[in-house]
Amino acid sequence: MKILLLGRNGQVGWELARLFSESNHTLLSYNSSELNLTDLQQLKSEVCRQQPEIIINAAAYTAVDKAEEEQEASFAINALAPKVLAELAGKMNIPLIHISTDYVFDGLKTGCYLEDDAVGPKSEYGYSKLAGEQFIVNALPQHIIIRTSWVFGYHGNNFVKTMLNLANKPELSIVEDQKGSPTYSEDIAKLIIRLVNCFIMKGTLDWGIYHYTGDEQTTWFDFAAVIFKKAQEHHLIANSPNLLPIPTSQYPTPAKRPFNSCLSLDKIAKYGDLDNSWRDGLDRMLIQLKNDDI
Ligand code: NDP
Repeated sequence: MKILLLGRNGQVGWELARLFSESNHTLLSYNSSELNLTDLQQLKSEVCRQQPEIIINAAAYTAVDKAEEEQEASFAINALAPKVLAELAGKMNIPLIHISTDYVFDGLKTGCYLEDDAVGPKSEYGYSKLAGEQFIVNALPQHIIIRTSWVFGYHGNNFVKTMLNLANKPELSIVEDQKGSPTYSEDIAKLIIRLVNCFIMKGTLDWGIYHYTGDEQTTWFDFAAVIFKKAQEHHLIANSPNLLPIPTSQYPTPAKRPFNSCLSLDKIAKYGDLDNSWRDGLDRMLIQLKNDDI
């Protein structure tokens, strides 16, 4: 298939580009300087010129705190561009795969969020991502929206790399009252490729919103503890800081985060093995980083 991928330089986009380049598909991929999602005319003309058979949007405005100030930019990239993509896909009668976030929820639910649970973003980023979802759902029946959370991976910036960069501090305070599931970027890319190869191409996928995250719920504090433990085991760091658990109230940020962002995986699970152990993903990432060191 001829696949048009946006966001090639992001955590997930980079893994998609890497894995698709090893497949039989024809991949047309873009970073933001090649195709800027704020330039809707350029977006339209490039997509029409290329006539892809499927569009995958892994691009997004992901600076959650900055979005509180840059509402216009986050809305343009996270909502208006996906709207145009969905309209274009509709005209071309092709599917759109889009990635969204746990931040569309308010985080007040006790259990895991289902795909059709009430949304209630607490931040401008969450609001813009939700608007993007809604534009897609309204414009295009052939959509797959994958809501994920706490993404980390070898390529790009993320919590794991931040922790590794802080490894030489004697002490670190980490939030312990926000729960969620870390998700390895390569696992998201593998899921998308499996959905394309095994279901979309065969016409056996039910279009709609799906949740996909790592397998196990944790807190930022516990995640940090695992990162430092594994980084020591993989000989990436010599010492680990002393970790202090703190409540969110002691770590104020411009954007509010959901306290519970556990997403139920029951719906996506009917499409086979989820292969989503974030601990395994973390091991794979740390091994790659260690190999870069050698
Ligand atoms: P990244 O921040 O790693 O990458 C996003 C990419 O979007 C960047 O590479 C950037 O391109 C591209 N982009 C930003 N602005 C524009 C623009 N104006 N035009 C074109 N491209 C642009 O994101 P992730 O890979 O982490 O996220 C992938 C998806 O997952 C996103 O939809 C995000 O909302 C969602 N998500 C992410 C989470 C996380 O923890 N990171 C959690 C939950 C959901 P360039 O580098 O070329 O400038």
